Parts: sequence; C-alpha cells; structure tokens
Amino acid sequence: MKYLEEFRNPDLARRLLDDIHATVTRPWALMEVCGGQTHTIIRHGIDQLLPDQVELIHGPGCPVCVTPLETIDKALEIASRPDVIFCSFGDMLRVPGTDRDLFRVRSEGGDVRVVYSPLDALKIARENPGKEVVFFGIGFETTAPPNAMTVHQAHRLGIRNFSLLVSHVRVPPAIEAIMRSGDCRVQGFLAAGHVCSVMGVDEYPELAARHRVPIVVTGFEPLDILEGVRRAVQQLERGEHRVDNAYARAVRPRGNPAAQAMIADIFEVTDRSWRGIGTIPDSGWRLSARYRDYDAEHRFAVTGITTEEPAACRSGDVLQGLIKPHECPAFGTDCTPRTPLGATMVSSEGACAAYYLYRRLGTPTAPLEATPVV
Ligand code: SF4
Repeated sequence: MKYLEEFRNPDLARRLLDDIHATVTRPWALMEVCGGQTHTIIRHGIDQLLPDQVELIHGPGCPVCVTPLETIDKALEIASRPDVIFCSFGDMLRVPGTDRDLFRVRSEGGDVRVVYSPLDALKIARENPGKEVVFFGIGFETTAPPNAMTVHQAHRLGIRNFSLLVSHVRVPPAIEAIMRSGDCRVQGFLAAGHVCSVMGVDEYPELAARHRVPIVVTGFEPLDILEGVRRAVQQLERGEHRVDNAYARAVRPRGNPAAQAMIADIFEVTDRSWRGIGTIPDSGWRLSARYRDYDAEHRFAVTGITTEEPAACRSGDVLQGLIKPHECPAFGTDCTPRTPLGATMVSSEGACAAYYLYRRLGTPTAPLEATPVV
C-alpha cells in the first residue's frame, strides 16, 4: 500500500539501525508515549534490533488502558438502564469493570452498540427519540475533536436525548507526572505523532527544557520509530534537549487550529484520574459549563461511583514504564486476553496485549514469533 510500505522498507530500516548503532556510546532509556507505537515496536521486534544500550520504555498512551475503573463502572451502570442505548468503540466492550464488562451487560439485555464514529451515535439518537443515547467518549487529544464536534452538532440540531460519558486525557501533563515520579528512568520521549497533528508542538518545548529531555514527535510505522529513536539518541549523545518533529508529513508546528477551536468551545481542562496511576492535575477535559447538559455522568447521576483498582493488576506500573508486562505476576496465567484482569490486556493499544500477542512471554530478549523489519 502506497505511503505505508515505504515506511516498512527493510533496506532503509537497516540504514537507520546502522546509524543508531554508530551513534550510541552509553545507555539511554527512551519512552514511546503511544500504545500504537508500542505495538509497532513489539510486532516488528524493533527493540531487539536496537543496540543493547538503548532501552525502549512503554508509556501511558493507550486511551482504553488509562480510563479508570470507576469510569468503566459508571458506563456499566448507565448501559444497564432499560431506557438507554449505550454506544462505544468496540475495544471498550471487553474492558473489565468491577464485576462485569459491557459484553455482559449486552448479554443481560442491555442495548449496547458498537459504533465507528460518535456521529453514528448521534444518528441513533435522532432515530430513537424515545431513548437516551450515550456515547462513551474516551481518549487523548486525537479523539477529542470528533467527540466535541458531536456535542456541537447535538446542540445545534436540538437533539436532547444524546449525552457523552467523558474521560478525555492529555499527553503533556502525563509527561510531567512521569518526569516528576521518583522512579522515573526516562531520558527522552518519542511523542505521539497523531496527538501533535491535532495540538501541534507548542506544549512541549517548555517540558523538554525544564526536564532536560529530548522530545521527538514520532509516527507509527517501523521507519518512523527508528527515525524517532535515531534523533533522540543523537540529541542525548550531544547533551541536547529539544523538541524535534520527525513526523512532518502529518504534524504542523501549530497542529490543527480548527480542531483546537472545537475542543476549546466544548471542553474545559480538568484534573483526571488515570487507571493505576491516580489523579494528574489538569490532565483531562470535561464538558464546559455551557454544554454540561450533555454530560452523561450528571444526567444519570453516577458521579458518586468510586472504585478501587484491583491489587492483582499492575497496569499502573506498566503504564508508567516501571515494569514490562511480562514482569506482572498475573501475565499469561491469571490474566490473558480471554480472562483479562486489566484493560492493558484487552485494548488494541495495550502493552500487555502486545506482549501476549507477539509472544513476549518470558525473557525480554527472546520473542518467539516477533517479525523483525529486517
Ligand atoms: S498482565 Fe494483566 S494483571 Fe498484569 S498488568 Fe497487564 S492487564 Fe494488569
């Protein structure tokens, strides 16, 4: 496929790898922020092709994974109501709440539907005026614009039986929290290219300067990852800590102003709880006061639901890069994609799911079925 195969070219990958090997003189630890990048790295065995001195630490950028358990429980409570049609992207249906998941709610008679766009949920609301239609609006800066657009449309068209269960999170405060953590080993970041295609890069120079870490905006194909690593390692070896855009084919410095304006109109910044990590100040969005009527938490009075994370699941440590997934005692035994204890095992961007899918079952250096790019 054009514009895809070019970024999986083995000869070019080898050249980038040779350059990285020639540049590295000492150990460096880089965090890839996005779960999509983690899957590319594990699927293609990129971490195993890098010099031993370069460690890739998997970051918290999987939207399903960081949605806190209590938000899942709120979704389950709302979806169980007989007057509700609950709409979600498919990967949320298998995420375990305290005692069930959305599939279970559906099997028990709940009207839970998989949609491919929040606007599909709005269409369902127009077609079912006697029902309350709720869309599960989770994710990072990438999914915030379409979710904001849907609320904007509902307001413009006077559709009152639509609401949004919101759990939006933002990358820069997460980077701040990771760097402030006492256990942090991260020396540089591969920032999520799709997030920057929306928000631009203006939020990152101050972070890079204050924490003295290079932040390289990076894409999602194997060559994107290798180029991001190459640029980050070059900066580290030179003692630099700048923001560098290695995904210029998709990211403009100022991002997408129209999308940012839509977000600013519908949402306001708020503290957010991250699964297994806890509350990070200013790390999310909620509906602004003008649109609070579209907030499903208030409409269905579930704001009081609070839930403790299960002790057996160490997804918080995985999401902060403190352990690799196979270092969790439950990995592959009590916790598998069929019997998940945490969202990181079922999300399509979850690190635990990647390690299970690509057979990183034991030692970090011995994948059974990884497919190297070269
Ligand atoms: S392997 Fe399962 S229990 Fe362990 S951190 Fe991952 S999702 Fe949680």
